[in-house]
Amino acid sequence: MRITAIREIAVPINSTIRNAVFDFSEMTTSVVAVITDVMRDGKPVAGFSFNSTGRYACGAQMRDRFIPRIMKAQPESLLNDTGDNLDPEKILACMMQREKPGGHTERSVAIGTIEVAVWDAVAKIADKPLHVVLAEKYNRGKLLTKVQCYVGGGWYAPGKGIKELQDEIRARLDEGYTTMKIKVGGATVPEDVKRVEAGLKVVGSSDRLAVDANAGFNRARALQYAQALKQFKLRWFEEPTDPLDYALLADVASIYDSPIGTGENLFSTQDIENLVRFGGLREDRDIIQIDVPQSYGIVQFARTLAMLKRHKWERRSIFPHGGNQMTLAIVGGFGLGGCEAYPDVFGVFAGFADDAKVENGWLKLSDRPGIGFEAQNALYAVMRGLVSRK
Ligand code: MG
Repeated sequence: MRITAIREIAVPINSTIRNAVFDFSEMTTSVVAVITDVMRDGKPVAGFSFNSTGRYACGAQMRDRFIPRIMKAQPESLLNDTGDNLDPEKILACMMQREKPGGHTERSVAIGTIEVAVWDAVAKIADKPLHVVLAEKYNRGKLLTKVQCYVGGGWYAPGKGIKELQDEIRARLDEGYTTMKIKVGGATVPEDVKRVEAGLKVVGSSDRLAVDANAGFNRARALQYAQALKQFKLRWFEEPTDPLDYALLADVASIYDSPIGTGENLFSTQDIENLVRFGGLREDRDIIQIDVPQSYGIVQFARTLAMLKRHKWERRSIFPHGGNQMTLAIVGGFGLGGCEAYPDVFGVFAGFADDAKVENGWLKLSDRPGIGFEAQNALYAVMRGLVSRK
């Protein structure tokens, strides 16, 4: 058994949305296929992934370093002990050869994306959904059938006012979601307070509305928003500070009692450990939002969870960034707090199986082998194209 090829392609996301800091007009993502010599139904088993949302495609690192390292390794050195499947831990170690400590983002997205595609192949070879493979390995075999899922939305867009924001939230509730996250920080404080009040009117209770500042605040604005928003006791206040400004985050937490969420822009176990040691976060209410494919992938995520456990953080406090099937499988497999969804926002990269239905805020886990991209027609067409490419 061996990997016969690893291919990647950069695909534009084609989105007109904007958060407090930047627009997505140039955003791309890397789609990866890990092709094996294992045959099923006359076709080689291939694992797929993409690099989640919000970090640009990173094909150069993959082509220059990580793919050649895997392809140069002895095939047996990348297999599990029984030799009947690939071993993601060994493949991660293979990619990490000759890499200098620190400076994570330059490689963590490229490595994590390839690593998650390896897991898709592993689950397909085992003929099990990825969440089942992960539950057996990392959650004492505890199999879930559904996970909680909230909408990450409420973006700023040209011509979008309070009424349109409320229409957006209403449409999501009609689809079966119960909890909504909206952007803040792209307007003035009074305008954003009005948006929050308008959102609360639609969702009906404060624990069903979160806000996301996308790390765009300086000290003055972060503290101003914390003061202005604390009266609402929202589900959470996401990324009120620069991801690495742990001291300012601790200052925000000292005046903001309700939950804070952060972590989607920290890419290593050490960065997350620094966050919980120095960021003033409270393990009884705050949430951590690691993006797994952008942070070296699933093996490293398991190590991060072990570190968090030593700091008394439980899995229910982890809501990984990225509304996609990879995150869904990871949330279900590890038994995490919940999953994000981006209905209609990031083109073919948004969302779950084409026939997925949310019921009262819960989303069913896939029962297909692997991650289940095959149930997302438009996205799967891109992925399949990589396998047939010469
Ligand atoms: Mg966010």
